[in-house]
Amino acid sequence: MSPTPDQTSALAIGAHVAQSDPVREAQSRRAPLVQFFLGDPQGFKGPEVEYAGGAAALRAAAEEAGVDLYVHAPYIVNVATTNNRIRIPSRKLLQQHIDAAAEIGAKGLIVHGGHVNKGDDPSVGFDNWRKAIDATDLKIPLLIENTAGGDNAMTRYLERIAGVFDAISACEQADMVGFCLDTCHAHAGGNSLETVVADVLAITGRIDLVHCNDSRDDFDSGADRHANLGSGRIDADLLAAVVREAGAPVVLETPGATAEHRADADWLRERL
Ligand SMILES: [Zn+2]
Repeated sequence: MSPTPDQTSALAIGAHVAQSDPVREAQSRRAPLVQFFLGDPQGFKGPEVEYAGGAAALRAAAEEAGVDLYVHAPYIVNVATTNNRIRIPSRKLLQQHIDAAAEIGAKGLIVHGGHVNKGDDPSVGFDNWRKAIDATDLKIPLLIENTAGGDNAMTRYLERIAGVFDAISACEQADMVGFCLDTCHAHAGGNSLETVVADVLAITGRIDLVHCNDSRDDFDSGADRHANLGSGRIDADLLAAVVREAGAPVVLETPGATAEHRADADWLRERL
C-alpha cells in the first residue's frame, strides 16, 4: 500500500529544534514543521514558553510563517508506572504540557510510553494509561511514541503497544490519542522495519508523526542513540520505505543543527 509518488514527494520534513525561536529554526531549515520542548525535558517543573513574545506571539508567528509546531513532552513523564510519586506528577505535567502546547497552537504533543517497574504486571501499566487519558483534557492530539529500551517498557514491543491502545480504546477521548513512530527506537527496540508500519497500523489504526532517525546501535540492542541518516545501522532503503509507508509528517531528531538537518532532509527526500 505505498502512496503514489506525488503524495510522497509532498511529505513534510522537519526537525527537533531549540525552543527559543522555533519558527526561525524552521525557516533556516526550510522546514514546514518543527518539534521542540517547552522547558526542561528532564524536570517536573512544568512547561515554559521561551519565545520572546510568549505563547500568543509564537502561535501568531508560526501561523504567519506556515510552520506546524509539535511539542515533545519531558522524558521523565511516565503515566504508566505503579510508583505514585512519579505517576501523579507525570499526569499533572502531561496536562500542563497539553495546555501550553494548545496555547501555542501545536498540532500535537508527543510523549513516550513509559514503563512499569521490574516485576510489575504490565496490565497495570495499560490501565494506568487508560486512567491518564481519562484524567486529561486533550485539547490537542496526544501522540504516544514507541521507545527503544527496557523489558518493562509500555511501547517498545508491539504486544505492549497493543495493550496500551486496547486499554485507551475504551476512553471517551480515544480519537485524540495517536501514534508517533520513531524509526531508531523501532530498530533498536527489536521491531522489524520491514513490517513495523503495517504492524503498528493494525494496532493503532494511525501513525500521526514519524521520528526519522538512524541508529548507532544494532537491531534489538535496546539502546537509544540516534544517528544522522545513512550513517547508522539501519538499511537506507528500509528507512526510506518506512517513512514512505507511514505517509505522515517527519521530524528528524538527528545529531547536529541546521546544516546536518538539511543534509538529512535532502538524503531522505532523494529516496522517497
Ligand atoms: Zn523520537
